[in-house]
Amino acid sequence: MSHKSGFVNIIGSPNVGKSTLMNQLVGEKLSIITSKMQTTRHRIMGMVNEEDYQIVFSDTPGIIDPAYKLHENMMKFVTEALKDADVVMMVTDIYEKPEKIEDRIKQVNKLEVPVILLVNKIDQSDQKSLESIIENWKSLLPNAQILPISALHNMSLQFIMPKLLEWLPENPPYFDKEQLTNKNMRFFVSEIIREKILLLYQKEVPYSCEVVVEEYKEEEKITRIRANIMVSRNSQKAIVIGHQGKKIKKLGTDARLDIESFIMKKVHLELYVKLDKDWRDKDQKLKKYGY
Ligand code: GDP
Ligand code: MG
Repeated sequence: MSHKSGFVNIIGSPNVGKSTLMNQLVGEKLSIITSKMQTTRHRIMGMVNEEDYQIVFSDTPGIIDPAYKLHENMMKFVTEALKDADVVMMVTDIYEKPEKIEDRIKQVNKLEVPVILLVNKIDQSDQKSLESIIENWKSLLPNAQILPISALHNMSLQFIMPKLLEWLPENPPYFDKEQLTNKNMRFFVSEIIREKILLLYQKEVPYSCEVVVEEYKEEEKITRIRANIMVSRNSQKAIVIGHQGKKIKKLGTDARLDIESFIMKKVHLELYVKLDKDWRDKDQKLKKYGY
């Protein structure tokens, strides 16, 4: 029996719905999703395994202009994503102005691999304006397949997989078929905590935090997790902790509940806040945190 296998890399601006889409396609909550930008800092892979194919999806950070070194390193994941793809899946939404991403459109037009452009959030559009949006994209990306979808409401997503399978090369599987992702439990735990930080704190604070899982110990009835929240300025410590520790307590509870439902086991979660001055602008630190 022939077997198809390959890499489908998802690119697009922040907030257009890349992570929502990947999670729908993979069927697990692998990438954290929030309405804030830059939730997805790392490149996360998710696999769809069937007997005769394996598709490896990569969700990338949204493409942005590098303001910090962190952002520069994040953008490397994006360049990498364009390099090793068998298929590029570009996501946009009905709100995005193509004039703002001219450079990327140029880049995508130069690609030699098949490109599918998904125009997301059609649930918030009407037929007439959608038609003109699609026409416009057709002229901008003449070689791409264009498909209007709603990732959130599962509209037209069933047309994606057959297209991908048509394009993917015949290959043996790249990864063990039991494996769902290239990331381990510690990674998901830190991502869940980071998601809660994004939801709970304002302005710069979430972007200044990094979560490091120091201990992950599975006992028979409970999993014990200890994590440090690294902040880049001393003043942020008090903000994260909150008045009488109320904020961090809420953070701990919200994160614990999500982790419990993710690993389907009771969790004891301990959180500590630590200062790691200006970690976002130090190469060595970024390396340590996996950027
Ligand atoms: P990413 O930054 O590209 O990964 O975007 P996310 O997947 O994190 O989604 C950003 C926001 O758009 C979230 O609030 C999603 O719920 C929302 N969203 C995603 N897909 C759709 C859709 O089809 N329709 C609507 N109305 N909202 C969507
Ligand atoms: Mg995302």
